[in-house]
Amino acid sequence: MRLNEIEVQHYRNYDGLTLDFPKTLNIFLGENAQGKTNLLESIYVLAMTRSHRTSNEKELVHWDSDSARISGVIQKKTGTVPLEILISNKGRKTKVNHIEQKRLSSYIGQLNVILFAPEDLSLVKGSPQLRRKFIDMELGQVNPIYLYDLVQYQSVLKQRNQYLKQLAEKKQSDLVYLDILTEQLAEFGGKVLFARLEFIQKLEHWANLLHKKISHEKEELAIDYFSSIPLDKENFSLEEIQKQLLQSLFDSRKRELFKANTFLGPHRDDLIFNVNGQNVQTYGSQGQQRTTALSVKLAEIDLMYSETGEYPVLLLDDVMSELDNERQLHLLETIEGKVQTFLTTTSLDHLNNKLTVEPDIFYVHQGEIEREA
Ligand code: ATP
Ligand code: MG
Repeated sequence: MRLNEIEVQHYRNYDGLTLDFPKTLNIFLGENAQGKTNLLESIYVLAMTRSHRTSNEKELVHWDSDSARISGVIQKKTGTVPLEILISNKGRKTKVNHIEQKRLSSYIGQLNVILFAPEDLSLVKGSPQLRRKFIDMELGQVNPIYLYDLVQYQSVLKQRNQYLKQLAEKKQSDLVYLDILTEQLAEFGGKVLFARLEFIQKLEHWANLLHKKISHEKEELAIDYFSSIPLDKENFSLEEIQKQLLQSLFDSRKRELFKANTFLGPHRDDLIFNVNGQNVQTYGSQGQQRTTALSVKLAEIDLMYSETGEYPVLLLDDVMSELDNERQLHLLETIEGKVQTFLTTTSLDHLNNKLTVEPDIFYVHQGEIEREA
């Protein structure tokens, strides 16, 4: 999959801009605060409808405007697809093939992207929330049904927590309604859990291959899904998971009623990364943690390819300078030639002599972009 061209209007510090990308490797070069990340972000938003940096849509619109528009043409094996997203104070409007899409799940997945920014190196060290977001974003792109189930789950969860609160405050006393919400929660939560377990098994396979390679066959990476309910992670079926989640929710009812909150379910889960059998979050060196984060991120490229038959588009925001020489080479080796890549940097120093393909270089300066002649 490739992004052939993009047009942005009133997005962040860009007034208007049209670029086309005939080359596989595209480098955005510029000093700090010129708009490099803004441009990558616009590609990410075109794919995901949301920014990776903020949930406040207003920030994405140019200060002097009240709406922003991003459009692009993507190239798939099956042909080209025009995409468009309009962001205003009325929300977001998305179009595929010029036809407005009512559902998020019918838009996301058209353009698959993987974004790698310096903060992703903290995937291992950071909060569980970060790892859950990672799963949801990546899985949602290859599996639109997952996204739908997740949205349903979150909506029932919210209702259920509100109802638990009303019960605690004695504004309600009907436990049958709580049962209904609990059953709905287990239904969607089970689907979310099932999809995640399958995804993690596949991710582990690809990530371990990369981790072994980067560590010169010295290290094995295992990824464990840490669930807030008891699960058989080797042999699982959707029905069993839903049954177990329902049972666990009923078992913890007393505590839930007391605390007026739902403590169990996919919104409480986490990932554990083990290198040679040891938890790398707790015991790993900084280098091992970085290799793990890099392997897991790059594994998504192979995973998406195996799931969709298309390589995703890779967005690398300022990561080269964060990696040592050897990890830089591994990163470039993984992508070169096959994965269309957009890379931002303030200097070409750490790229010189490492590239085997001819890149297009774009100079970014105060919201304007010029292609190197
Ligand atoms: P660095 O190398 O430091 O990461 P960068 O080139 O990636 O820099 P960006 O984050 O892309 O920088 O751009 C930041 C600039 O964009 C800010 O200085 C800010 O002035 C401007 N900016 C951000 N949001 C808006 C907006 N909504 N409207 C206009 N300008 C904005
Ligand atoms: Mg930046």
